[in-house]
Amino acid sequence: MVVIKSYDRIECADGFIRVKTNEKCCCSVCGGFLYVRDSKPRKVINQAGITEIYCLRRLRCQRCRKLHTEIPDCIVPYKHYTAEVIEAEISQKREDCPADNNTSWRWKSFFASILILAHKHNFFSSQSHWISKAYQIVEKFKLLTHPVCVPFESIRCYNSE
Ligand SMILES: [Zn+2]
Repeated sequence: MVVIKSYDRIECADGFIRVKTNEKCCCSVCGGFLYVRDSKPRKVINQAGITEIYCLRRLRCQRCRKLHTEIPDCIVPYKHYTAEVIEAEISQKREDCPADNNTSWRWKSFFASILILAHKHNFFSSQSHWISKAYQIVEKFKLLTHPVCVPFESIRCYNSE
């Protein structure tokens, strides 16, 4: 995955939200050039509890062939809720979290390490959607041992049964 910070969010007539960016990303594995391969849908629940469907680009590395999903920093990797919702809940800034108590508890325990990292690197004051950036750093340096992250597609199949 590659996380982008500078982008425009475009609500399209087909119901998808597309992300337009001028950021030039390179492969996080080998530093190679990334080209657009295709796109895939990604559901995210916002602060109002409404499910939005993003159409995210998938980028292929020209050198090592690894596939990366281009994720805007308003989406937290492997999480169903927006960065805004999770950040507000774990820093206890709002009372109207759309997620249930169990989910909220899991976020707080899961992101405890990320919270320490965010404080250490001053993510709170220096950038919005700090949690996506912090998460990416944690992933890159394997700083966190966490339970297996379930891809969103699996959750959707589970819920539709
Ligand atoms: Zn590569």
